[in-house]
Amino acid sequence: MILHLNKLVNTDILNEIKKKYDAFHFSENEIEVVITSSSVKEVDTKFEKFVKEKFLFDSDIQLASLNYKQKREINIGGKIIGGNTNNCIIITGPCSVESEQQIEKVSKFISRLNIHTLRGGCYKPRTSPYTFQGMELDGLKLLKNAKNKYGFSIITEVRDSTHVNDVIEHADIIQIGAKAMYDHGILKACAKTKKTVMIKRGFGTTLQEFVQAAEFILSGGNPNVILCERGIRTFETKTRFTLDLCGVAYLKHHTNLPIIIDPSHALGYAYGIEDLSKACIAMGVDGLIIETHPNPSVAKSDAKQQLNFEQFEKLHKSISNIANAIGVNII
Ligand code: PEP
Ligand code: MN
Repeated sequence: MILHLNKLVNTDILNEIKKKYDAFHFSENEIEVVITSSSVKEVDTKFEKFVKEKFLFDSDIQLASLNYKQKREINIGGKIIGGNTNNCIIITGPCSVESEQQIEKVSKFISRLNIHTLRGGCYKPRTSPYTFQGMELDGLKLLKNAKNKYGFSIITEVRDSTHVNDVIEHADIIQIGAKAMYDHGILKACAKTKKTVMIKRGFGTTLQEFVQAAEFILSGGNPNVILCERGIRTFETKTRFTLDLCGVAYLKHHTNLPIIIDPSHALGYAYGIEDLSKACIAMGVDGLIIETHPNPSVAKSDAKQQLNFEQFEKLHKSISNIANAIGVNII
């Protein structure tokens, strides 16, 4: 249940309500928003006079529900996604930040294509301890330099809560990876900032669990959350994961959060990323995140799925054509 409380409420009453219902609370546009479990359906009569509006839900998808709020808008470096816009943000860059030269080459390339949002991981959640784990703080500094030089927004991932504050400080969009999305230390730290957070769906995560991870951030008072579908694990072995476009349709029609699709991690191979990207644009999503590397064959992570500049430029042309045809603005 979500309650919007009126101005009569004071701190003591607010605390009483929070205690009684184990509720979360934040203030938004001069409204006190209180969120309880969805199993709570009634408020005690003594609190009724403080309630301006009450919203009931059949599950703990509440603040993210389209039954609560229309599509949320998110401002990324002055560019808006979500809401009533038909904007689709294109985010690209390497899987891992590897060197100054690599970031400079990618930056120059994407800047020429008028792309404003650069990705690059500095804390890599690798499956093997013997592979490249990321440049950490030195990598974050390289991204920050690229932002200052080219005016990009920067998205980079947090692997665990030990460095969450460094990522929050350097990133414009904090990426919570598929493995990290269950880490409550990360979710709670991201709830305390107002920076945009993109949560990637874990590969064994149901849609309910996925959106509930977003609820951890929203209920802490950070409204700037994006969902990212990046493929789930199925019985199929020819592709790295299975891109769940049914799930994307569910999220689009039931939640108010912008949705970005990551075809790179879903397929796991460069050859079909353009095909998938075209399908995603046609479906009407709020963004795509695609891995691009100056020389994918020597990439320190996810070498098989990263596109070289020629492949990415071809993809960019074809999605731009589809976007033009259906009234989507690529930003
Ligand atoms: C990545 O974006 O490089 C990454 C590690 O993604 P995921 O968390 O989806 O595996
Ligand atoms: Mn990757």
